[in-house]
Amino acid sequence: MIRLIEKTYEIAPSYIKNWLMSIAGGIEFYKRYGRYYKQGIAFLRKSQWWDEGQITAYQLTKLKQLLTIAYTYVPYYREVFDSIGIDLYTIAEATSIEEILPKIPFLHKEVLRNNLIKLINRAPNLKSYAVLYTSGTTGTPIKVIYDRASYQIGHFAFLRRFYDWIGLPECFKSVRFSGRKIVEPERDSPPFWVYDIFNRRLFMSTYHMNERNLPYYIEKLNQFKPHLIDGYVSAIYILSKFILKHDVKLEFTPIGIATTAETLYEDQRATISKAFKCKVFNQYASSEGAPFITECPYGNLHINFESGIFEFLDIENRPAKPGSIAQMVVTSFRNYKVPLIRYKIGDFVELPDTSIKCECGRVMPVVKRIVGREDDILVAQDGALIGMVSYRVFKDAQHVKKSQIIQHSIKHIEVKIVKDSNYTVDDENFIRQKLLKIFGENIAITFNYVDDIPLERGGKFLSAKRLFSLKEIYS
Ligand SMILES: [Zn+2]
Repeated sequence: MIRLIEKTYEIAPSYIKNWLMSIAGGIEFYKRYGRYYKQGIAFLRKSQWWDEGQITAYQLTKLKQLLTIAYTYVPYYREVFDSIGIDLYTIAEATSIEEILPKIPFLHKEVLRNNLIKLINRAPNLKSYAVLYTSGTTGTPIKVIYDRASYQIGHFAFLRRFYDWIGLPECFKSVRFSGRKIVEPERDSPPFWVYDIFNRRLFMSTYHMNERNLPYYIEKLNQFKPHLIDGYVSAIYILSKFILKHDVKLEFTPIGIATTAETLYEDQRATISKAFKCKVFNQYASSEGAPFITECPYGNLHINFESGIFEFLDIENRPAKPGSIAQMVVTSFRNYKVPLIRYKIGDFVELPDTSIKCECGRVMPVVKRIVGREDDILVAQDGALIGMVSYRVFKDAQHVKKSQIIQHSIKHIEVKIVKDSNYTVDDENFIRQKLLKIFGENIAITFNYVDDIPLERGGKFLSAKRLFSLKEIYS
């Protein structure tokens, strides 16, 4: 049914698109907000106030349940567990997470991408309910299947609790900027959006946001008056810069802005917050089913412990030091149809120097920053990982409209710049000095001045990207 709607959607005129989006939205609404969702959100509203003892006990119980299910019903894990001598007895006897979890080998993306069939839970009553795809910027998107309870709780109950933290009422109007191609790419007049009346959600295209079209976006937003704006950082940032530059008067103030899928830099956060006069809440989750990290009203990024276990490791897979940039290895309680156990998701965070006690009163552990996808972590010549490089280089640079740092090899960096008319050689030297300081004196730097920098596949913008794999350096 949904597939048929999607096919018709591509060729339909705008008013039909709105109807089709609303019909799909209606079907989705019933799929998402069923009895499991209701149970899930009721539980999560209580568990967020648990103490450390309750959190640890809960995670151990859930892990043992997950491992038991994986061993019993998932061919891939049966094979792996047998090969390392883990059986139902070992699982039942485990007295801590540390005792059992680190023994299990990592699950790599290639297995999920190429061998999904072996990762599917064969329990007779666990029917497939929904299929999601990752919006990867590199490689083919990964397909993941969910059962009904996992879909309703693992996505929508957790999201709803995040909305609680933002301060949103049960029913609200939202605008979403995502990589979906919702209007034809060649369209040069409004509408650049589609409305799902059922979920009161306006989808705005991220592919049409240029200076010429942005006034139409503003006009539509002023008319729609959303309570929440969510989606890709880059799109919301472009809009915010436009609002500030032209001193645009907004006729609404959102309750909050929720960003996801791309790294949120501090200057972007400040710009967005200033333009819309509200707080920005960052969030981490993934379509594969990685556990959630969500930002609370006090600005801390809390690990949603009910959604899974994060291990923070350095590049050689040892526990990462406080204050360092760490890769996340995830064991998820969000999806029992395709269980992820010690999955190397390829995303990085910066850990706090000391453990943070948040003023919001939640004991849920905190990470300092979501640093980015594996693709936008660069490497210095001494092998150190460098996150948020674009922010560090360009935060004080002037006369740059858009930029992208591309690392071709450990010795060569290309900088793509869309400059404004006041850009001079001094600006270039400033940027060069910053890069030399971060990457070391011997790095070769090429400047490449361009008219525009295209979005990646999936509609995301990468402010930094690396064209070689980390494995090439560390193996
Ligand atoms: Zn907090």
